[in-house]
Amino acid sequence: MNKATFVIVGASLAGAKAAEELRAQGFDGRILLVGAEPERPYERPPLTKDYLRGQSERAKAYVHPEGFYAEQEIELVTGVTVTAVDARASRVTLDDGRMHGYDRLLLTTGAEPRRMEVPGADLGGVYYLRTLADCELLRERLEAGGRVAVVGAGWIGSEFAASARQRGLEVTVIDPQPLPNARIFGGEIGAFYRDLHVRHGAELLLGDAVDSFEGNGAIARVQTTGGRQIDCDFVVVGIGAVPRTALAGDAGLQTGNGIVVDDKLQASAPGIFAAGDAANAWHPFYQRPIRVEHWANALDQGPAAARAMLGRPVSYDRIPYFFSDQYEVGMEYSGYAPHWDEVVFRGDPAGGEFIAFWLHEGRIVAGMNVNVWDVHEHIRALIRSRQPVSAAVLADPGTPLGSLAGEPAASR
Ligand SMILES: Cc1cc2nc3c(=O)[nH]c(=O)nc-3n(C[C@H](O)[C@H](O)[C@H](O)COP(=O)(O)OP(=O)(O)OC[C@H]3O[C@@H](n4cnc5c(N)ncnc54)[C@H](O)[C@@H]3O)c2cc1C
Repeated sequence: MNKATFVIVGASLAGAKAAEELRAQGFDGRILLVGAEPERPYERPPLTKDYLRGQSERAKAYVHPEGFYAEQEIELVTGVTVTAVDARASRVTLDDGRMHGYDRLLLTTGAEPRRMEVPGADLGGVYYLRTLADCELLRERLEAGGRVAVVGAGWIGSEFAASARQRGLEVTVIDPQPLPNARIFGGEIGAFYRDLHVRHGAELLLGDAVDSFEGNGAIARVQTTGGRQIDCDFVVVGIGAVPRTALAGDAGLQTGNGIVVDDKLQASAPGIFAAGDAANAWHPFYQRPIRVEHWANALDQGPAAARAMLGRPVSYDRIPYFFSDQYEVGMEYSGYAPHWDEVVFRGDPAGGEFIAFWLHEGRIVAGMNVNVWDVHEHIRALIRSRQPVSAAVLADPGTPLGSLAGEPAASR
């Protein structure tokens, strides 16, 4: 495969880590990493957290130091969009008019914010938060202070709300669910996060939805379906993300909740792979396709795709993992739990330090450690073991999780 050309579309975390891995694996052909954004690859978690609040340097957000791509002979092309993939001719077209043939193609096109479709959605002062450019605008708004309405109490909305409160803004969060993320985590965790925000002075308008945004050119208030009017200086919308699949779909690749790939991260045409937020990958452990929109998945799946592109044996089966920081609360969640019938707590949520386990038919399917550290690998090992566990033992802080997993902490 030496002297071959590998093209990576999407210069973000998954794409940059894939390029790094190709070189680490000894690939000495041409690597072309093409990104639509003007920046070199960066990580998005700081954009709702320390960087947004002005508490960390921009340099900390980048995946690699500035000179990395040149040193590694990775041709990083920024501010350029790949407009077409010709899967038959193995060729991509860029919006600067260039065309490149490829031997292997990796699509790490990510996801984009779901847009609001209500009257007034195009008013000035209605923001989304996905890119560094979005974040720069919102940093200025936080600097100016005032009142913000946040639409959506998911992770982006909740983290933004926490940062805005930490910067002293008045914050109202609107979400149709009765509790934040209740559908995914249930009532206890939802109530824990609601109380956290309320304790820090945010108003949570739950069980209500946006009817319209109102203002003369710029947003001045949000009208809810429940009849509330919320005066605000700006709005941040965090109502989920949709995978960017148009390029793959137009190229004739199979799509459906993302670019459909197998456990080797190979798409439905030879030589084409996908990873990160854009990929809906067959998961051997769960025996179903899963699309994971989290940092760790982009970090791990990019390199896995790189190895697969080189023909190394790959079967991507990591247990999904993500983290969130809001105010003084840091948490990690491991697992995948579309169904569960019981939530068991080790520690008291009221005390702010605990682990929650989601059980389905007596087996752990997910776990969340909140302000408790160095346990997520044990949780993942427990999930992977599929051993039945007693709720009483799980709840007992005297029983080390590692011993329950019946093995030393697994590395995945
Ligand atoms: C504000 C924010 C905070 C987050 N915080 C957390 C967190 O705390 N914990 C956590 O686990 N996860 C978090 N995430 C999720 C995490 O950042 C994503 O899972 C991760 O960024 C996915 O990386 P990716 O490389 O797959 O895709 P993306 O980061 O979406 O990057 C895809 C890139 O591809 C480019 N692109 C798309 N199409 C083309 C094309 N045709 N041509 C050229 N370029 C193209 C895009 O411009 C983009 O730069 C956060 C996400 C956001 C937005």
